[in-house]
Amino acid sequence: MKRIAVIPGDGIGNEVMEAAMLILEKLDLPFTFEYYDAGDGALERYGKALPEETLEACRRSDAVLFGAAGETAADVIVRLRQELNTFANIRPAKAIKGIRCLYPGLDIVVVRENTECLYRGFEFEFDGVAEAVRVITRRASERIAKYAFELAKRERRKKVTALHKANVMKKTCGLFREVCRDVASEYPDIEFNDYYIDAACMYLVMDPFRFDVIVTTNMFGDIVSDLAAGLVGGLGLAPSANVGEKNAIFEPVHGAAFDIAGRGIANPTAMILTACMMLRHFGYLDEARKIEEAVERVIESGKTTPDLGGNLKTMEFANEVALLLD
Ligand code: ATP
Repeated sequence: MKRIAVIPGDGIGNEVMEAAMLILEKLDLPFTFEYYDAGDGALERYGKALPEETLEACRRSDAVLFGAAGETAADVIVRLRQELNTFANIRPAKAIKGIRCLYPGLDIVVVRENTECLYRGFEFEFDGVAEAVRVITRRASERIAKYAFELAKRERRKKVTALHKANVMKKTCGLFREVCRDVASEYPDIEFNDYYIDAACMYLVMDPFRFDVIVTTNMFGDIVSDLAAGLVGGLGLAPSANVGEKNAIFEPVHGAAFDIAGRGIANPTAMILTACMMLRHFGYLDEARKIEEAVERVIESGKTTPDLGGNLKTMEFANEVALLLD
């Protein structure tokens, strides 16, 4: 029996989680789902955005299924990733059939280092001067570069591209680039190149098919994965997994989206596909494929939420998917 800690969190996190759970509970899987509180609401209720009980439950669980955190994201999801040492954030950007998007057929994966860089949280302010410390280590860079190449091997992908800004951040990005190049030499069958992050953003918009697997540092990875999501239809469709040696956290790329929260119009696809990443992680490949195909069939039939031009509510979309799983 796999123990899953479910944290709906804030804003649309609650709405998309309800939709994903409807789908997961349709399948007869050996999972127990236990709900925990975290986020802006938890901060108001208990004075802590990530209550001790939630953190402990996440440590004990086999995986965490996370919705979204709002203003407290740094204290909740960024902290959870660090506490559980989920060092690799995997963010696929794959065009779903039937979606009108900038690049139909695109299929890339962003592998983002998840534990250091500017998101380490070392920020100081004194007398009108604010500073942040960017931490890049050989160990974490090597670990994430190897993860990216192993992922490429496993998924039969052909190329890994490292993104950095080593001409300006000579020490931090310089180390990251050097380590990626070293690791690449251990994988002669997989093509490797590296770009400056700014040029890569232009290439991503103008010619994204030159990418396959992208590996990069924490903050660049955060930004570039939203960009990549935009190429294939937007944040409503983008799933992600945070994977470590012992723990894993599954969360959509999007945040709490307060601009649409409470109206039942959020697209639950990202959360549903995130649940599929969790199923694959535990080896339930057929079940994951079945759900992904059902999502694609609903979208292809033109039934979508407003972000994709349709008029289905969150739970209406989920029900359409669930019907195909009967
Ligand atoms: P974070 O920094 O926590 O990732 P954010 O500030 O980037 O959050 P999001 O909450 O991800 O913001 O939302 C960005 C935009 O994308 C908003 O306009 C939001 O409405 C839209 N959006 C995000 N997720 C969805 C979704 N599931 N369905 C429809 N629109 C969404």
